[in-house]
Amino acid sequence: MMIRSIHWLLVPALFQACSPAFDDEEHEDEPEELEESTEAVITCTPRSGVGYESGDRRTITLVSVDGKPVEINTANAFSNMRDAAARAGVRIRVNSGFRTNEEQQRLYSCMINCNCNSCNTAARPGYSAHQSGLALDLNTRNSGVLTWLNRNASRYGFRRTVSSEPWHWQYSGARATGPCSGTPPAATPPSSTTPPPSSTTPPSASTPTTQALEIVAPRAGGHYANGVWFKAKTNGTVHHVRYDSGGYLFGASEDAGAEFAYRRVFNTLGQHNVTVRGYDREDREITKKTVTIYVDAGEASQPEIQLVDLEDGMAYRNGFSLQISPMEGVASVVYSAGEYGLGVSRDTANGFPVDVVFNEYGARSIIVQALAADGRLVSQKAITIVIVPGTEDGLPPAIRFMSPLPGDQFGRDTIQLMAAGSDSVTRVVYYADGVEIGASSDAEGAFPTSRQFWQVGLRHLRVIGFNQHGDVAADQTIDITIR
Ligand SMILES: [Zn+2]
Repeated sequence: MMIRSIHWLLVPALFQACSPAFDDEEHEDEPEELEESTEAVITCTPRSGVGYESGDRRTITLVSVDGKPVEINTANAFSNMRDAAARAGVRIRVNSGFRTNEEQQRLYSCMINCNCNSCNTAARPGYSAHQSGLALDLNTRNSGVLTWLNRNASRYGFRRTVSSEPWHWQYSGARATGPCSGTPPAATPPSSTTPPPSSTTPPSASTPTTQALEIVAPRAGGHYANGVWFKAKTNGTVHHVRYDSGGYLFGASEDAGAEFAYRRVFNTLGQHNVTVRGYDREDREITKKTVTIYVDAGEASQPEIQLVDLEDGMAYRNGFSLQISPMEGVASVVYSAGEYGLGVSRDTANGFPVDVVFNEYGARSIIVQALAADGRLVSQKAITIVIVPGTEDGLPPAIRFMSPLPGDQFGRDTIQLMAAGSDSVTRVVYYADGVEIGASSDAEGAFPTSRQFWQVGLRHLRVIGFNQHGDVAADQTIDITIR
């Protein structure tokens, strides 16, 4: 039986000291106001999201403020500001916080196609301050709120960045202490007499080196009609590639035999700089190349496929359902990974669901094709996710990090450690460079613990999973970098 997996994970907070991206170009509808009676509430249960800053993709930690996803550091700063306002009798609420790339892509498509969101101007996907986690839309129409913010917000690191949008406030990004500053308590490990075995796993590959990657199509500087095929050839070390343009991820493929072919229908004509990045099986980037082309004419942009509950680059427990949001004119959806079909669904009423259980762990690039009744391709989408042990997936006992993931880089911050184990794993112990740093028996919660790393450089993290008899069931060693 297939069980929808726990697919969330905790990730370290990345506190960026860089100056925030301005979104002066960005205009948006004023979000709906919350009911006055809505209780102000901050829930610190962290979850991960894919954030963007100036087009650069990064994993950020989200908590919930007034039911809205907000980046954890921004949430801490906001909470301090809100408390101060409350003491002055002013009730500030968050109407909109963090925005996913898919949400931003939708707003951007609305602008390009002028068919939704009042055709409002929207920042390019990857470039909205709402994607960096720094921007909050606040209830400035409520009495006294805007006046209070104008006088006091700067003391808490918030300021307006879009002159036409009084509700849009942006945090400086400075490290803030607040209600979500603490980390979730690690589960208390049961005492165990089993010593950690000596390492049986060789350390994973060290610092990635540049690998040969050749863009086969399109040719640099070429002029094309819209609907452009991208193809790349590598020397065999690349497991999958991602294609992005202007910071927006538009495609992925693990089908080396087909030269990682992916067809892109651009939303706009003109010049496009497309970067092809090659990754290893653990989803670590090992090579990249950029090509500039010109799209002169051709078919209109495609409607965007929205995958439900799946975000590129995240780890998911094996055994889950692929599904898309409703789409006009789509009669069937085909899912594939590499050269293998994962399934076809014609279940329009339920989001074309297909249950999948992969037969090995690691990165998989899933291509989703939405077809019309006559078989015509309506739209295509690809993402890459990392498969980790799931419930009843039938694979041999294993333990895999869910957070961090191999090759991740962090500042000297507290890092959330999480691992997914096979059913037989009931307890895990974590090590950093051979020293025990935490343990957990909370299998349901993906064995969470946390640790602050001070020493910069390459660090070897190891997780050992024990079964109920205290025997070692599996282990994994990964490398991360502390900057
Ligand atoms: Zn805003």
